[in-house]
Amino acid sequence: MSTSATTIELKSTTEPLSAAERSAILADPKFGQYFTDHMVVIRYTEGRGWHSAELRPYGPIEIDPATSVLHYGQEIFEGLKAYRQADGSVACFRPEANAQRMANSAVRMAMPVLPEELFLAAIDALVTQDAAWVPEDPEQSLYLRPFMFSTEVGLGVNRPSAEYLFMLIASPAGSYFSAGKTVTAWLGTDYVRAAPGGTGEAKCGGNYAASFLAQAQAVAEGCDQVCWLDAIERKYIEEMGSNNVFFVYGSGAEAKLFTPKLSGSLLPGITRDSLLQAAADLGIPAEEGLISVDELREHAESGAITEAFGSGTAAVVTPIGGFRGKESEIVIGGGKAGPVTMRVREHLLGIQHGDVADSRGWLH
Ligand code: PMP
Repeated sequence: MSTSATTIELKSTTEPLSAAERSAILADPKFGQYFTDHMVVIRYTEGRGWHSAELRPYGPIEIDPATSVLHYGQEIFEGLKAYRQADGSVACFRPEANAQRMANSAVRMAMPVLPEELFLAAIDALVTQDAAWVPEDPEQSLYLRPFMFSTEVGLGVNRPSAEYLFMLIASPAGSYFSAGKTVTAWLGTDYVRAAPGGTGEAKCGGNYAASFLAQAQAVAEGCDQVCWLDAIERKYIEEMGSNNVFFVYGSGAEAKLFTPKLSGSLLPGITRDSLLQAAADLGIPAEEGLISVDELREHAESGAITEAFGSGTAAVVTPIGGFRGKESEIVIGGGKAGPVTMRVREHLLGIQHGDVADSRGWLH
């Protein structure tokens, strides 16, 4: 029988960064470069369940060279943010959705599921302890990175690890957004990110390891990010390197959002899901479906598609100016960030920072 302790023992640091050092970091937080004073660590042992949950000073961990994750890569992670609210309080955006996605990733990778209440307790403990690290600037936030990996020592490969570590770290995040900037996406056909029955739907480190070569190719081709196509026909648009993708059809009161449907091989983004729901607040219909590269080209050339953007926790909404492939160049909306993109971006940021009514109970 496995049991799960839900209390997190607090072992605060005796050497936190000074307020002046913290302010210097928050003045220009380079994404993922600086970490708050604490982290949460929870152990899992087969037969015993989750145990030894503690919040402790941020720092290195020591592992044996034969630790399972270093060889067979059982690793999953999540990404979510805590936002400073207008009244000075701090709120996380949809952490329950991240807990659920992490549970789904765990099942796919034959790892134990961290119960939602323990996931939320870890978030609450770290964000409460390191609340001073949540920036005041509405374009900034505190990025939270929960992750879990296999820790059993030994090289046996015939079964999943019997031991795991869940950890939570936090890193202040500045604005990714610079007004008017758009990205160009590479329609690569040499590599695939995920195939039916594979791990594309899971947020596991291996998916990202497999993507770097394609990302490097995208950069070599003068693009910012890869836009992945389906693995079988290499024809349908799936998602971007770290974003889901949206297209805007029409404009003004006639505008509609369209995003590739969840195929089993693309990541079910929480920003994607939030936009699909929250577009209704703005009177913008939103639909999911299939779109091929040929259709994208036709719809962009005819002017039916007026804008495109990527959606993800890190950048919220990133305007896409165009797509490029070996034989194609598809310009969207004259290569500029469009008005519908900016409206949905402002609306979602408004909900996240408590400036727009949170009618769906997304803030925690
Ligand atoms: N697709 C991929 C491959 C990603 O890495 C991410 C970032 N987590 C997303 C989509 C967007 O997901 P979310 O909105 O939950 O951040």
